[in-house]
Amino acid sequence: MIRQRILVVGAGFAGATYARNLAEAGHSVTVLDKREHVGGNAYDFVDRSGTRIHRYGPHLFHTNNEEVVRWLGRWGDWVRYDHRVQALLPSGLTAPLPINRRTLEIVFGVELPDAEAAQALLARVSDRIEHPAHAADYLNSQIGKELTNLFFRPYTKKMWALDLEELDAGVVKRLPLRFDDEDRYFPDDRFQLMPRHGYTAIFERIFDHPNIEVELGRAFSRGVERDYDAAFLSVPIDEYYSECFGPLPYRSIRFEHVTKAKQPGMSWTVTNYTDSSRWTRETAWHLLPHHDNGLTSGPHTREEPCDYKDNDFERYYPVRTSDGRFQKIYEQYAKLAEETPQITFIGRCGLYQYLDMHQVINQSLLGVRRWLAKYG
Ligand code: UDP
Repeated sequence: MIRQRILVVGAGFAGATYARNLAEAGHSVTVLDKREHVGGNAYDFVDRSGTRIHRYGPHLFHTNNEEVVRWLGRWGDWVRYDHRVQALLPSGLTAPLPINRRTLEIVFGVELPDAEAAQALLARVSDRIEHPAHAADYLNSQIGKELTNLFFRPYTKKMWALDLEELDAGVVKRLPLRFDDEDRYFPDDRFQLMPRHGYTAIFERIFDHPNIEVELGRAFSRGVERDYDAAFLSVPIDEYYSECFGPLPYRSIRFEHVTKAKQPGMSWTVTNYTDSSRWTRETAWHLLPHHDNGLTSGPHTREEPCDYKDNDFERYYPVRTSDGRFQKIYEQYAKLAEETPQITFIGRCGLYQYLDMHQVINQSLLGVRRWLAKYG
């Protein structure tokens, strides 16, 4: 084997997965990140009150992929955590989200004795739409206009600055629909886990390898990759190519922290706002496992979505409109990237995909395996 000098840009899950696997295969890996910490957007820390918080919003690991779980298990202990969310309604009541039997009872003020009754109610209120063209069609066909307008319309406008008619249906399909009393946010995932000692500790262990050198606080500029045999770049692909086919937009999030008294018996961690205020949701950190400070009050964090240009170019969510116009632009960049096989774009910003953590890790495990089979 020829030991290659490899550059990885970005110390989040994509970069970490590539770096570790390339290092274990015997290559010499340099990791750059413009931030002063590892972990990308999954970075967490213990604040002054003694509570663990995630600087870039709550990261809740869930998957059905055993290989990803096994790989993550190498870097620390993970504990079971079933995530629950409630939506705050205009009446001041809260209701489980994703929508389930109980949600329907609360919203419509009726008694639904079982899942069949819930399903029958939804069949009555929903529209028949054979080929949903966008998120609004999809939701109307599943839950009808009233529930769509209550749970999804204002939230989506705040989150994406788009109407549901402009948003790709795939974005709202992330939320399942239940007719029974299942109230977990990820009911279909076998593994729902949180790192016992936080995400940052997991990343520190991943990068702890003699073949890996991590340079934090070092922004990447185009050209640096020429000093290496190969480069894996978790950087915005449009920026790398000087936006020659046009910019790829992102939504970003601004956070506001407030200290609140802990509400005894609260059974959900995140509250979603159905109103048209600036906020989409609020996280009560102490309700995540091993996050609590043990005191009677603790920090809550509210999220205010915005354009990435209004938040220091912090890119969080690639935008998927129903006409797929940004994905078409991305395809042009991806085609251009094929001309330089020594460079691989990785992660959310490199691939311009709205990916969960388990998807990023899975893609990266497969990607690094393919690369090693070919070159390494
Ligand atoms: N969504 C909504 N209301 C909610 C929750 C979600 O309208 O209370 C829509 C919104 O468009 C959001 C999408 O569903 O962007 C996906 O939600 P999810 O909770 O999966 O978003 P994430 O956790 O990735 O921010």
